[in-house]
Amino acid sequence: MARIVVIGAGLGAMAAAARLAVAGHRVTVYERTATYGGAVGRFAREGFAFDTGPGLLHLPAVYRDLFVKTGKEPLEECVALSQVDPASRHVFADGTRVDLPNASRAGTVSALDAALGAGAGARWGDFLVRAREAWDRTRRPLLEEPQPADPAPLAREPYPALKAGLLRRPTTTLAQVGARELADPRLAALLDAYAWSYGFDPATAPAAAAVLPYMEQTFGSWYVGGGLRALADAVHERCRKRRVEFVFDTAVEDVLEKDGRAVGVRLAGGETVEADHVVSGAPVPALYDEHVVEWGDGDDRPHYQTTRTSRVTVCLALRGPRESAAVHRTLVHAAGERPTVTVLRPDDPALRPDAEHESVTVTATVRTSPEGAGQDWEAFADRMVEAAAEAVPGLRERLLWRHVRTPEDVRRDTGSAEVPGPALAGARGLLLPAANRSPLPGLWFAGGWSHPGGGLAHAGMSGALVAGLIVEGADFRGSQ
Ligand SMILES: Cc1cc2nc3c(=O)[nH]c(=O)nc-3n(C[C@H](O)[C@H](O)[C@H](O)COP(=O)(O)OP(=O)(O)OC[C@H]3O[C@@H](n4cnc5c(N)ncnc54)[C@H](O)[C@@H]3O)c2cc1C
Repeated sequence: MARIVVIGAGLGAMAAAARLAVAGHRVTVYERTATYGGAVGRFAREGFAFDTGPGLLHLPAVYRDLFVKTGKEPLEECVALSQVDPASRHVFADGTRVDLPNASRAGTVSALDAALGAGAGARWGDFLVRAREAWDRTRRPLLEEPQPADPAPLAREPYPALKAGLLRRPTTTLAQVGARELADPRLAALLDAYAWSYGFDPATAPAAAAVLPYMEQTFGSWYVGGGLRALADAVHERCRKRRVEFVFDTAVEDVLEKDGRAVGVRLAGGETVEADHVVSGAPVPALYDEHVVEWGDGDDRPHYQTTRTSRVTVCLALRGPRESAAVHRTLVHAAGERPTVTVLRPDDPALRPDAEHESVTVTATVRTSPEGAGQDWEAFADRMVEAAAEAVPGLRERLLWRHVRTPEDVRRDTGSAEVPGPALAGARGLLLPAANRSPLPGLWFAGGWSHPGGGLAHAGMSGALVAGLIVEGADFRGSQ
């Protein structure tokens, strides 16, 4: 039985902790805040409740696997999972609206044809075929296996080049895919919105980001009853059942090293804790900037992804009932001064005081630097609410109060204002997160800042990979 210290109680770190405890190790999690979940938080006031992090789950198989491998009750017995249908409504800048069904290629094609004109659906369908090729080429090494020692193959663009005459014309950015292959500004906006919602700028994101709409439209969007915070509750509870110990309000200030190996941590206040392994779910840059470069092989290029983007979330408490035709998720695309916003209206009694009220969450992706610095977030929230009015009839008249959460709140919850995105191939490897195996033996990275990157599902996969690497050692070839 090894002693394992876990830094932070985010979803990736907790997923690793539960698996390591089941493998027979003694696991203690030190969390700098008063609660678990990190980004997966909840804001509650006057009977209204709001998810302050993700509002939907993709690839629930990741958490199904966690619950199967760590106990008797499967995920579905611990949380109420439901598919969101339609998966999303889109309101484009020109006022066109389209509802895209959940996980139905044929339904999406006919919805796009009906809303945008004949041929639009086929162009989107053909694009998804190419996106699937990129997904199939990268799925295992990018998501299910430890990052290869030589990530060069992942640095190459997996999205297939289209033929132009006799030549193949490679596409370098996602924005180019939209402009060249979708031939309708609304379809291009649809594609761009997927990139932005994961924190990537389509003008610089590689064509490989096409896997993001492919993933959502193939595997579906899921809601957790009571809000996504209920998933964090369930993972925390599973950890406790497996005898993982949690110490809250206790930051880890340093990783201790002896003879070229991690041997424990130093807590805020000076106390030291010995460990055979340290699993860090804290934002990787802190450790990289402090230590990893000197621990590493002398290469001073930091090997982690930075999106330089965060989220602004506006929680809206509304009087009056949610209309029966309301959809769960609406994307209102940017128009004029208005940013692109995601409006979530879950039909969930747990989130409102009674049926005569509704809680609505509005989220936008924003830059953390340099444009984000010094932003007037209340004025930005005004524009977000203006956009959200396209998705909520009578919004202004119904508004009781609003609560604005900024990148500083994200920093308070997670330790970084930046929200890391999922690992993407291409882009010369710049969007590959840090490997789970750090340059310092005995120190491992889990969570959104490490392979295979940010997002609920991806962070859950990182937990599985770290546990596999510690338990099975060099023979570990990835999750099945
Ligand atoms: C506003 C917002 C919206 C999001 N929307 C989506 C979405 O729609 N879809 C999606 O899939 N993902 C979304 N994400 C990302 C997703 O929530 C995360 O990628 C996921 O929860 C995984 O987080 P993590 O494991 O990296 O831990 P984090 O949530 O980053 O938590 C890290 C934890 O470590 C703790 N910690 C940090 N430093 C220390 C230290 N030195 N000592 C002790 N503890 C420390 C922090 O306090 C925190 O609890 C969103 C995130 C935010 C913030």
